[in-house]
Amino acid sequence: MRELLVKPGHELLDLIEQGEIDHAELQEAQYQFARGIDERVNAFISWDEEVEHQEWRLPMVDQDLPRQFHRLPYAAKDIFTTKGLQTTAGSRILKGYVPPYDASCVSHLRHAKNHLMGKTNLDEFAMGSSGEMSAYGVTRNPWDFDYVPGGSSSGSAVAVAACQSVMALGTDTGGSVRQPASFCGIVGYRPTYGMISRYGLIAYSSSCDQAGIFARDTLDVALTMNTVSKPDERDSTCQATGDIDFYTDTQRDVHWNKLRVGVIKPLMDSARIDAPVLTNFQASLKAMTDAGAEIVELDFPLVDYYLAAYYIIVCAECSSNLARYDGIRYGIVSDDEDLLARYRSVRSRGFGAEVKRRILLGTYVLSAGYYDAYYDRARQLRRDVREQLEAMFTKVDVLATPTSPVLPFKIGEHIQDPVQMYLSDLCTVFINLAGTGGINIPNGFGERDGAKLPTGIQFVCAPFRDNLLLRIGHQFEQLTGWKYQPPQWVLDELNA
Ligand code: GLN
Repeated sequence: MRELLVKPGHELLDLIEQGEIDHAELQEAQYQFARGIDERVNAFISWDEEVEHQEWRLPMVDQDLPRQFHRLPYAAKDIFTTKGLQTTAGSRILKGYVPPYDASCVSHLRHAKNHLMGKTNLDEFAMGSSGEMSAYGVTRNPWDFDYVPGGSSSGSAVAVAACQSVMALGTDTGGSVRQPASFCGIVGYRPTYGMISRYGLIAYSSSCDQAGIFARDTLDVALTMNTVSKPDERDSTCQATGDIDFYTDTQRDVHWNKLRVGVIKPLMDSARIDAPVLTNFQASLKAMTDAGAEIVELDFPLVDYYLAAYYIIVCAECSSNLARYDGIRYGIVSDDEDLLARYRSVRSRGFGAEVKRRILLGTYVLSAGYYDAYYDRARQLRRDVREQLEAMFTKVDVLATPTSPVLPFKIGEHIQDPVQMYLSDLCTVFINLAGTGGINIPNGFGERDGAKLPTGIQFVCAPFRDNLLLRIGHQFEQLTGWKYQPPQWVLDELNA
């Protein structure tokens, strides 16, 4: 059974439906494998010990639904609340917190009889780009253990890349699904804001946060979207209709010769983008032009400003969202009698350095006298980003950029230099400011100090054109003959 764990979910589902394999055995094999190798990569924070859920054995009740992510094992970033299962957001402050309810997308997956194996590691409260900011230890890149897997959804990316899980949920506030997917060589999709309910996602920056999906190919992403993209009255920003069959739609043809692919000139500049990343990006563009696509060069004058605007907005929102961690309602406590002393004790012990830095920065930009100078200007810039993107989408059907300006970096390399860390989000955050969708598709490998590390191309759609985005992602995979192959040590373990 183990050797099957490298297959994408839709192929496993075929085997289950044809009666070739038993899904309970598959789940057991997946769970044992994931646990067995986790000490090497540290992708998981906690495990669901109860593998014997009887309800998995039942078929779906509603047979009229389009094809679903169904009866398969998966993992979720430890920022999705899960009933009865510890949820920490990667923070010491929430250690031991067991939510009494499921996030909406977790409950949809549960209803579809999938097995949530455990909760994956992340940068504390999803703040970070490297997987080094967790209170539960550093997560390692399965392609080379000395390198970061990207972040903040580091554990979810690694779980899929190291065949510990068929699919994993993450969240993407500024790139935290697409960038780690690129660093780990798998597919990572952030839908248009509102396509998946945020109910039960622990908030970082509510206006940018969005759940996303890691998988081995775009079809698995589409399969999962059929299960999790549903209307939800508990999230007033949720705009999912539930009536798109992403799985069927994704397999429809893209006529490359009718497709206009926009490339953003400043994001192809060798001063901003590392050489191996750029080489693979150019090769991807060539594959698309050879297939008939028209490449349209676009300018993006805001490229030097939006990163600053993003960090002002997310810090402002996090300083407000994280005020609820007061040591009274959730997580760790203090027995100080004095209220202020209690706050101080819990927050100084509970929050890590990066979270504290952002709360301070956020409080500063929201304070009287600085509000207009920083926060308001950042919001104005956000509107301008949205307008410039709208203008681009009158000229092209889709945008393509490198997903990350750099190859994965070494563990510890940027830890003392937050600004350098923030710069690695250059290609992803403008999408979150505009509220639109993006996907990372692997497009090769680059070399750094003798290590072979993955790269990715990012496609970006106009808001709510996500079905076109997935279709293009799927066709791009066909074009380049993409099929996920894990690192050799994982293959050896699978075949041991
Ligand atoms: N690296 C970005 C940040 O730290 C993105 C985080 C995210 O998408 N959750 O804000």
